[in-house]
Amino acid sequence: MPDPGIPREKFPWFPTIDYGVCISDLHCLNFCAHEVFEWQKETGRPIVAHPYNCVPGCDSCAQECEVQAIRLPSKQEVQEALRRVRAESRNGTQPKGILRMGGRLPSEPAE
Ligand code: SF4
Repeated sequence: MPDPGIPREKFPWFPTIDYGVCISDLHCLNFCAHEVFEWQKETGRPIVAHPYNCVPGCDSCAQECEVQAIRLPSKQEVQEALRRVRAESRNGTQPKGILRMGGRLPSEPAE
């Protein structure tokens, strides 16, 4: 799925957690073998601490979550992000920071 010419950090595939729905049962953290999630002591919630450990194309944790609090990008979002990266690469400019989906970093709680 990822374009071999694009570094993993530029490929916007990682889960986001809807904290309005999440029941903090930590199933995602215990389920994923790639250490994408960590437990945040201050809030008692899971966070997406290592988004680029996520395996492109995998959506297993979203399938596992019983309250459907985890979201992975849509095909359209991935295509748009890749178009931006390629355009910036052609223009000789570097993408600024981490590519964001929905305007927030993966570990930031949704409003
Ligand atoms: S999509 Fe797969 S690899 Fe990524 S965090 Fe979920 S279970 Fe782990």
